[in-house]
Amino acid sequence: MTSPEQAELVPVADGVFAWIQADGSWWINNAGAITTPEGVIIVDTCATEERTRALLTAVAGATHDAPVTYAVNTHEHGDHTYGNSVLPESTVIVGHQATRAGLIADQVIDGCPPFWSPVPDWGQVVRRPPTVTTSTDLTIHSGSQRLDLLHPGFAAHTTGDLVAWLPDQRVLFAGDLLFSQVTPLVFMGSLDGALRSLDWIAGFDPQHVVPGHGPLIDANSLDEVLETHRRYYRLVLDTARAGLDAGLTPLDAARKCSLGPFADLPDAERIVLNLHRAYADAQHTELDIFQAFADAVTLNGGPMHTAV
Ligand SMILES: [Zn+2]
Repeated sequence: MTSPEQAELVPVADGVFAWIQADGSWWINNAGAITTPEGVIIVDTCATEERTRALLTAVAGATHDAPVTYAVNTHEHGDHTYGNSVLPESTVIVGHQATRAGLIADQVIDGCPPFWSPVPDWGQVVRRPPTVTTSTDLTIHSGSQRLDLLHPGFAAHTTGDLVAWLPDQRVLFAGDLLFSQVTPLVFMGSLDGALRSLDWIAGFDPQHVVPGHGPLIDANSLDEVLETHRRYYRLVLDTARAGLDAGLTPLDAARKCSLGPFADLPDAERIVLNLHRAYADAQHTELDIFQAFADAVTLNGGPMHTAV
């Protein structure tokens, strides 16, 4: 089990911090903070009120209580956005248009279905979507600090992914385009896009990468992390192709799939969620989210583990 106490504000570069929450599994995300002459920019909030308050308390301690001027959401998922409403009212929230639309339409914030055990309790949070949006790129200039928010140009983890790039410090907040030592998840995005996004990320040539989940990635280990993602996405695509050819359901394809080195990663049951995405894309159908999660619970032998 992990708790908010197992989160750590890690200095990544001068005035740049990563909020790393162990162990990065379901609902346990990473976030960040960038100090500028005009205040702090937060990159992503957390799933729960308690975890977001822990993040903001740590950031206030590291920045002499500087005001939080902006917060960026890297994508719509609740582990990165439900805590938005814990931010000060004056904080401007920035995200992709699809992130705004997704958070407005989100039902899980009103009460989490029993797909996880224990069922997450978000605390006192309400929908607070980004009010400044882009469908492409956008730059925040705050004093001398420049933060580029960049969309890959296609669906990858979701349809509205943004990375946050500090060109001066060469730090990349990758959101859930990268899962470090955790099973990747693309059921609301695209397998092909997720694969393409890896080359796009490599093109930044970053010094440090803050993944959406799991431990920090430095320049020396990035190639290996990207290659691990490539292997996983190709495994999903190959398993989907074989399953479709054999007339298997995504659940049966997942049961027959040998995960190899990915079997021991947290959240391995995500294979069936990812297969649902690969099937839907191959068959040009809509993904049935409820069925996908029900299959993940079946594959897992019960509700999925969380420690949120
Ligand atoms: Zn996430």
